[in-house]
Amino acid sequence: MKIRTRLAIRFALIVGTILLLFTSSIYYFASRYRENQFRTRLYNKAITTTRLLLEVEEVDKKLLDIIERNTVNALFSEKISVYNFRNERIYHQEESGPPLNISTDMLNKIRLEKDYRFGIDGQEAVGILFEADFDRFVVIAAATDELGLTQLEYLRVILVSGLLVSVVITLISGWMFAREMLAPISNVIARVENITASNLSLRVDEGNKQDEIALLAVTFNGMLGRLEAAFEMQKRFVANSSHELRTPLTAITGQIEVTLLSRRTVEEYEQILRSILDDIRNLTRLTNGLLTMAQVSSETSDPKLRNVRIDELLWQTRDDLLKVHPDYSVNIFFENLPDDESKLTVHGNEQLLRTALINIMDNGCKYSNDRRVNVYLEAHSLIRITCIDKGIGIPAEDIAKILQPFYRSDNARSQPGHGLGLPLAHKIIQLHHGKLHISSQPGKGTAITVELPPIA
Ligand code: ADP
Repeated sequence: MKIRTRLAIRFALIVGTILLLFTSSIYYFASRYRENQFRTRLYNKAITTTRLLLEVEEVDKKLLDIIERNTVNALFSEKISVYNFRNERIYHQEESGPPLNISTDMLNKIRLEKDYRFGIDGQEAVGILFEADFDRFVVIAAATDELGLTQLEYLRVILVSGLLVSVVITLISGWMFAREMLAPISNVIARVENITASNLSLRVDEGNKQDEIALLAVTFNGMLGRLEAAFEMQKRFVANSSHELRTPLTAITGQIEVTLLSRRTVEEYEQILRSILDDIRNLTRLTNGLLTMAQVSSETSDPKLRNVRIDELLWQTRDDLLKVHPDYSVNIFFENLPDDESKLTVHGNEQLLRTALINIMDNGCKYSNDRRVNVYLEAHSLIRITCIDKGIGIPAEDIAKILQPFYRSDNARSQPGHGLGLPLAHKIIQLHHGKLHISSQPGKGTAITVELPPIA
């Protein structure tokens, strides 16, 4: 069932229940009021009739009958009976049909109660004990409250039809109200159905930006914004990777085509092959970087975690780097290292951590004239590795951008690279719940700090 229908029904049920309680209590009190009024009239009637009969000597039964018949306030099918102390009926209105059939028990009960209200032969009745100077009489007056009951019936019809009409009106207005209230959601649904990967720039209507539905739309738009940004980044990444891959491939193709134009000497072939090998190595580095990037970006990747001693890892990384670049100089300094080796140990993927550190150390040497980087290791609550070089530095406006894949500062273009090393290192450190800070002064040098949580 749709929320709109559910709301309308719930609304009508609530209003219907309240109205039902309200109309029932109105009917109940009206009916009690009528009953009391009528009984009071019966009571007065009984008293007046008996007084006329017993206290006014000129009035006999016949005259009383005539008086009764002609009084304006005569009640419908009124019957009045008077009994003496011997339970003998001394008076009853002859014209109103057979007398009331009152049992001795009832007469006694009336004598006991003095004012007793009851129903008899489908009529309402009042029995009272009338005490004269030397005698006690029981007077019973019974009648049908034709007018009161008709009015009550009329009231019941009004209340029941009013109740039904109100419930129907509430149902319809509730349905319309719910439709109006939920219209923004229907708009959002219609709009969202049009959003696909190719038009992520579409946004849903945020309405007044105040109510809950508008806030949902605002949140949804926020999510769309983040998705669009991620999607754009992905597209840029693919475009940049293709471009980076194409450059060495074009170079290789060009070299081979030019070489094939004429016969070469063995030395020339060797030189060309060496150049092609350089390009292929470059290509391999790039594809390795891309693969690692894909590995660390993928949530399903299995990072093969184990405990890694960072001091040992630094030495191994240094050796690996120096094997490829013997001209580099990497100096490692340990600052007051703790005895507890768990404070130097990280639970992580050794291969990825090594890649991250190699990239940072490699940059330090690559972008410095002296090809030298100093690495400081500290271990307190966090393991902190700081790589400091005295190289070209990073322009302040580029510091925020160099963590984006393929971004390279203008002053770094003289050195080979693809702009993948630092973003990759950043992703790897994030994967290990660590942080990477960059501080740099162009022309003076750069300090890159990595903070990792130890297992301790
Ligand atoms: P690249 O392959 O270009 O070195 P990186 O992702 O490792 O790619 O670095 C991105 C950019 O950050 C570099 O192109 C360079 O502009 C800047 N950079 C990184 N490290 C340093 C550093 N130690 N000194 C100066 N610039 C650096």
